[in-house]
Amino acid sequence: GDRPPVRRFNLNNVTITPDPIGNQEVVLILTPMARFYQEYWDNLMRLDYPHDLISLGFILPKNKEGNAATTSLQAQVAKTQKGPLKDRFRSVVIERQDFDPPILSQDEGERHKIENQKVRRASMSRARNSLLFTTLGAETSWVLWLDADIIETPPSLIQDLAAHDKPLIVPNCYQRYTDPETGKPAERPYDFNSWQDSPTAQEIAAKMDPDDIILEGYREMATYRALMAYMADREDERDVEVPLDGVGGTALLVKADVHRDGAMFPPFPFYNLIETEGFTKMAKRLGWSATGLPNYKVYHYNE
Ligand code: GDP
Ligand code: MN
Repeated sequence: GDRPPVRRFNLNNVTITPDPIGNQEVVLILTPMARFYQEYWDNLMRLDYPHDLISLGFILPKNKEGNAATTSLQAQVAKTQKGPLKDRFRSVVIERQDFDPPILSQDEGERHKIENQKVRRASMSRARNSLLFTTLGAETSWVLWLDADIIETPPSLIQDLAAHDKPLIVPNCYQRYTDPETGKPAERPYDFNSWQDSPTAQEIAAKMDPDDIILEGYREMATYRALMAYMADREDERDVEVPLDGVGGTALLVKADVHRDGAMFPPFPFYNLIETEGFTKMAKRLGWSATGLPNYKVYHYNE
């Protein structure tokens, strides 16, 4: 039979503007997923960016937990894509990893041990890169990295972040919990990977083996970086911006041109940084900048 005709794209016609809805810009939401949380899916469904402009991409490990998560995810995708038109997404891709994740427990305590970070985050980088390079399209204007355990965001997350017109922009990732003393609902910072660099951290890096990585949020390694997690001060000033040198990937909006320029998640120490923090460094070396919104919160699942 006939082969399809050549498809031509003029990348200049793919706009990336502070008014992405007005300009009908396609957003690719990318989620590495080790576990499926219904609250993640429900929050995703509540995003009020037009779903016909949202493409979804998932990557799941090929282990027992990954199999279970894939089954749950597929069920929700099938239901949504057969449901009301306004809920249906533009496209959905579900991928299974072609390499084994490190044999580490997904338990929070084990996952966050300092000695496990290099292999764990190298593996996460490879998962993110596989997902990115197989799904980024010529029509993609924005990439929203959204972890599978982000269970609460404002419904206007995409357009709110895009309105800042920044190459990389990251909200503040918190976690809700019940205060054991008062029994009342409370919240605390969760993601410590969004930071401004410090002279101490630079000195640590200068003395480090190039194959070692600096980690944030560990008592064993005091960096004195300024963490966005602790910069939240005013609920009513969600638009306050701060410049950043490292970002976390729990929720992160990236102009697709940054990835198209070649910025990815280094699965190796890059300037002693790895994964999303290494990505920030790479984007900066390509001439882009990173911005944080300390008062704009999204919430991580409480395990
Ligand atoms: P933490 O919140 O910093 O502890 O990091 P997580 O363990 O939550 O991992 C970040 C994101 O990657 C979450 O969406 C996880 O579901 C997902 N994830 C974790 N490990 C793997 C893995 O081995 N493969 C894939 N594809 N996703 C993973
Ligand atoms: Mn997480």
